[in-house]
This record gives sequence, C-alpha cells and structure tokens, in this order.
Amino acid sequence: MKKLVAFSTLFLTLLLVQTACAELTRLEDNVYAYVGVKDASPAHSFAANAGIVIGRDGVLVIDTLISAKEGERFLADIRKVTDKPIKYVVNTHTHLDHAFGNCVFANLGATVISHEADQSMLAAKGAEILQSVGNYGLQPEDMQGTGIVLPTLAFSNQMSIDLGGETVRLIRSMPSHTAGSLVVHLPAAKLLFSGDILFTDFHPFLADGDFAGWSQTLDELLAMEIERIVPGHGPLSTKKDLQEMKEYLVLFDSKARELATTMQDGEAIAAKLLEILPKRSMADWMVAYNVKSRYLEKK
Ligand SMILES: [Zn+2]
Repeated sequence: MKKLVAFSTLFLTLLLVQTACAELTRLEDNVYAYVGVKDASPAHSFAANAGIVIGRDGVLVIDTLISAKEGERFLADIRKVTDKPIKYVVNTHTHLDHAFGNCVFANLGATVISHEADQSMLAAKGAEILQSVGNYGLQPEDMQGTGIVLPTLAFSNQMSIDLGGETVRLIRSMPSHTAGSLVVHLPAAKLLFSGDILFTDFHPFLADGDFAGWSQTLDELLAMEIERIVPGHGPLSTKKDLQEMKEYLVLFDSKARELATTMQDGEAIAAKLLEILPKRSMADWMVAYNVKSRYLEKK
C-alpha cells in the first residue's frame, strides 16, 4: 500500500511538472505561444494567451497576463527557453488580463509598447480597475505586488521592430475589441498573435468593442498571408476561426438587439442567446455580461 501511495505521488508530481512545462508551446525555433487554455479562472488571467519572439539581440514579450504573480509565472517559463534580455513588451491591448503583468517586465528594463488609444485607456482606467478587482472575481492577494505600468512607446498605425534577424510588425488599422487593439505579425513565419480580436472556443468580451471596425479588421486579417494564429483566449487557431469570429459578432449583435426590444432581463436574454450562438467551451457567463453592458439601459 505504501509503495502504491509513493508511486501515485511520484506519478502525480511528474504529471504536474509536465503540465507546467507544456504551457510554453514552440511554434518556430524562436517563437513560442503561452497558451492559458487549461484554466479560465480570473486569477489565471481568464486563460489569456501570451507569447514570445526571440531575436539575436533579445526577447519581445507579447502580453503580460493579469497580475505580477501571473507575470512571474510567465517569466519563469520564459527563462526555461532563453536567458536573453527582455527588450520589449507589446500589449495587444490594455485590458487587465493582458497588461497588468507589465510591472514584472518593466522592472527588468523592457520597453512597453501599445497603440496610443490603449495607452490612454490604461492611463485613464488602470488604477481604478486595480482598486476594484473584486468586480472581476479577483481577490486582493491575487494582485499582490501588481502596479500599473503604462506603455512608454505608443504608435498610431503601424510599427516594425527589428529584434536582430527577426522583424516583428505591429498593426492596428481601426478600433475593434478595444480602440487600440493591435495584432503582432511575423511575416516570415506567416504567424499572427491576434490579441482579443480573436477569441476561439471562448465567448468574447464585447463591452469595449467597436463592431463595425472589428468586422473590418477581421476582413483585413483574412486577406493577409497567415497560416497560424495565437488568439487572445483559446487554442492555436487558423483563418477559419477569424471567419467564425466575424459571424459570431454579426449574429450576437442582431439577436441581442432584437431580444432587448421586448426583454429587460439580461440573464434571460443571455439564456436565449446561448441557444442560438455557436457553442463555446469557455466563458458562457460572458454572454450576460455583454448583454448588460451593451444592450440594456443602465438603471
Ligand atoms: Zn480584452
């Protein structure tokens, strides 16, 4: 019996170690995705994804997760694959689950980059959000050590970063998931980090979205030469998922608008929408949140 217990403990330990390592997924020799799909709890950044690109001169980090703790978890996993200096952080947008870990990387001397609209959004709302994390299902201890770090480099349309042997393009053509949501494009690898412009198998957060600009942005991405996409939430994706995202937005907007003309209860509208919308394995709760934030008059 003792042997059996010891064996199961060893097995469990191995399993845990393996799970912890498996999160940094190698996409190219120098490009990794940090896919958070296993745990969509608030303290685990709502399963937000992140990534890294390693150049000759240093590392570019794409998104920093929800807190100092989460940023540290990410950094520890980065250090398992490279010891090069972390030169840049790109925030695909500045929602908390993608940008509140900035402090960890800024402390290492990294330059934090975003679109100027999302730089402004974080400057205007970041401190207040950090004060009221309970509204997002987070406990004060989840956020221990977390400070708001604003991007110090912001652009308005496009930007290229030369990492030494690897060029990274940042593109934002119009407002979408947020006013300044950008994509990170690696042309040579035909690879895209889309941030929350794409949610795959995960109900999207729509409260700050511009639906017309979002649809147009998705069309532009569909026209690009891309084979693999790391979405903001959910598993590694392709253009098929961009198309489905566009269809989801159109369906959600028309049905929610229609239901809100005769119904006032956000939960009841969400229940109806969940019958109509394509099934998603994560974040059913998001649908009611979206309905209340966009389609019902606040009382
Ligand atoms: Zn977001």
